[in-house]
Amino acid sequence: MPRVVICGAGIAGISTAYHLAVTRGVTHILLVDPRPPLSLTSDKSTEAYRNWWPGPDGSMVHLMNHSIDRMEALARETNNRFLLNRRGYVYATAREDVAAELMAAAHQTAQWGAGPVRVHDGRGQRTYVPSPAEGFTGVPPGVDIITDPQLLRDHFPYLNPNTRLVLHVRRAGWLSAQQLGMTLLEAAREKGVRLLRGEVVGVMTQGGRVHQVRVRTHSEELLLPADVFVNAAGPFVRDVARFLGEEIPVYWEQHAKLAFNDYRHILPRDAPLLIWSDPQRIPWDEEERAFLAEGEETRRLVEELPAGAHVRPEGGGESTMLLMLWDYHVTRTVPRFPLEFDPLLPDVLLRGMTTLVPSLRVYWERAPKPVVDGGYYTKTEENLPLIGPMSTPGAYIIGALSGFGIMAACGAGDLLAAHILGEEVPSYARAFLPARYTDPQVYPLLGAWSSQWQL
Ligand SMILES: Cc1cc2nc3c(=O)[nH]c(=O)nc-3n(C[C@H](O)[C@H](O)[C@H](O)COP(=O)(O)OP(=O)(O)OC[C@H]3O[C@@H](n4cnc5c(N)ncnc54)[C@H](O)[C@@H]3O)c2cc1C
Repeated sequence: MPRVVICGAGIAGISTAYHLAVTRGVTHILLVDPRPPLSLTSDKSTEAYRNWWPGPDGSMVHLMNHSIDRMEALARETNNRFLLNRRGYVYATAREDVAAELMAAAHQTAQWGAGPVRVHDGRGQRTYVPSPAEGFTGVPPGVDIITDPQLLRDHFPYLNPNTRLVLHVRRAGWLSAQQLGMTLLEAAREKGVRLLRGEVVGVMTQGGRVHQVRVRTHSEELLLPADVFVNAAGPFVRDVARFLGEEIPVYWEQHAKLAFNDYRHILPRDAPLLIWSDPQRIPWDEEERAFLAEGEETRRLVEELPAGAHVRPEGGGESTMLLMLWDYHVTRTVPRFPLEFDPLLPDVLLRGMTTLVPSLRVYWERAPKPVVDGGYYTKTEENLPLIGPMSTPGAYIIGALSGFGIMAACGAGDLLAAHILGEEVPSYARAFLPARYTDPQVYPLLGAWSSQWQL
């Protein structure tokens, strides 16, 4: 049995521990992290998932289908402790060109195994099935494309009335990421996985293989024997890889989300995740516009801003919270904690969401005090994750999980556990190997991946 040290108790490290210990019976596993589990990036997400991954090949669709299979199985085993729902992602557009792009992307993704495309244009039978608010069963796979104005009004009366097409991704929704992580962690600990509060500060090799891991705790420095070292350090994967003299090709973007109290009940509590797929200009009033146009930093806010403003209800029972996100100004940066956020973010987000859901305008005069938090997307240029062996024998990575680490975690952890134990892995796993940059089968496709339609 290998002795495994996992650096990082975010969702990636925890899922790896689970899939080694619980699924495969590995007994010597230590999860090392100076922070409480899941507390750096994994508890900051929007907690949404989908199997809709347009792209030049099917690798992301396969990974996400597998991950969702694993989540659904776990949800069944635990009486849905982590509240997996399947309300779907609703991409809405008022533009003909964007509608055509969405249609093309839907057909492409169907080809990779994301499920069928059903078009509701008012000509055939009315077969659109709305998603239930809770649970993850009884929802058709694939996507529904709705252009029938009556159907749009019946099912999405709160959307911008200029909406000409809605693409509803059906194997999609959200969950409690914290509860998913704790479900995996508790099960792993029951199988003997130990958690050590400390920071990995070095990885030693012997004969070129991983041999020991140096950990600094609050009181001492330890040298832990290890046959396998897993780099699951989230935003710090590059630093940790350097302990082995390896360079990991990642960069970072800061992403923020807004928790907004919709106390006037504007958005129905059973709404899906809603995404405005068009670029937009915010209708500032004259005074605001003049003020923003004056500042070098704020001038861009009066110009056209990118597509992707999105919102969903958060919480059950009496909750009136909405989560709002819109990456209207993403730049590359290096991770620094604590994060600082644009003070204009709440105003910009609220206005951007109003294009999607016009009734939110009631909050323009007096918006409740919002809560902003966020973290870093750690990304590769092609925005595919890194899952597999590093160059040093015995070292592995599960990282660059960008804005999809929660939904990918179960699939990625399972895949990495298979790599570690030398099991056969599915062919799509090639696209995620750190060695892909020199793989003649994978490399030519990398340039064709982009972040379009990704959140
Ligand atoms: C605003 C926002 C919204 C998002 N929305 C979604 C979404 O809707 N759906 C989705 O699937 N994903 C989403 N994500 C992405 C998702 O949250 C991340 O991809 C995921 O949490 C990354 O998990 P991780 O385990 O790799 O990293 P982390 O959660 O950051 O965990 C890494 C851990 O490694 C530890 N570590 C680092 N260095 C060391 C060291 N030297 N020694 C020991 N430990 C170390 C850290 O302390 C940390 O605990 C979102 C992210 C953000 C920021």
